[in-house]
Amino acid sequence: MSEAFKAALSKLAAMEQGHVWLAGAGPGDPGLLTLHALSGLSQADVVVHDALVDARVLALAHPKAVLEFAGKRGGKASATQDDITRRLIALAFSGQRVLRLKGGDPCVFGRGGEEALALAAAGIPFRIIPGITAGIAALTAASIPATHRGVSQALILVTGRSGDGEAAMDWAALARLRQPIVLYMALHSLDRIVDALIAAGMDRTEPVAVIASATLPDQRLLISELGRVAAETRDADCEAPAIVVIGGIVRLRDKLLTLAAKIPDLVA
Ligand code: SAH
Repeated sequence: MSEAFKAALSKLAAMEQGHVWLAGAGPGDPGLLTLHALSGLSQADVVVHDALVDARVLALAHPKAVLEFAGKRGGKASATQDDITRRLIALAFSGQRVLRLKGGDPCVFGRGGEEALALAAAGIPFRIIPGITAGIAALTAASIPATHRGVSQALILVTGRSGDGEAAMDWAALARLRQPIVLYMALHSLDRIVDALIAAGMDRTEPVAVIASATLPDQRLLISELGRVAAETRDADCEAPAIVVIGGIVRLRDKLLTLAAKIPDLVA
């Protein structure tokens, strides 16, 4: 072993290896961050974030932290999942404390599990920090209880997109459960999903809410019925990100709304 190689090796060993916090930033409102995510933001050397992470959340990062965007924006070719995991691994290997910040919860339709597996395979120390997922936050923010005794016994979280090589969702089976369905990433496929649910016997008058940009200043809400929600969503120019919820819990909104919003926010 040459002296130069030995020196390089001992330098490497002396170098403190970095690590990755794989954290959820919640649905958007900075008030819905967890204290763990906030402490990650204040300590990380590098914050690798997705498009769904609000600018006000990123503003809480340490002033010296480097903010790196990893995701789709403006239709440009986005970094692939492999690019992102390679980047996380390289940053941690170079001794950085990395905060990988994702919208909502990192492991709910967020590929957090895939990134964690890749970090583990590379021997990078990591920790997963949960976040409030949009499907739950959007309902509560719209005064729709996610579960309600006497109305529902379950909540189905489902994506409107099917991944490459994945079997198509059995919408008829979900319809048969007669429990509220919360759809992520479903604006583009809403027609198809609604048709499948109606074909499986779901009532066209089943109440539906579409909650766009939930918990953000431009939150929008559309209350509709299964038979007309796809057309109404199009007419209203409803844009992503949006959660669609189908089921009897939507009806409870009217009752709750009269009681909500009477006291100021805890965090302005
Ligand atoms: N990991 C995220 C979900 C990522 S998938 C989570 O746990 O929330 C992206 C989808 O999440 C969007 O297409 C939309 O359906 C939903 N979403 C994320 N943020 C949202 C928000 N503020 N309002 C409504 N829907 C949101």
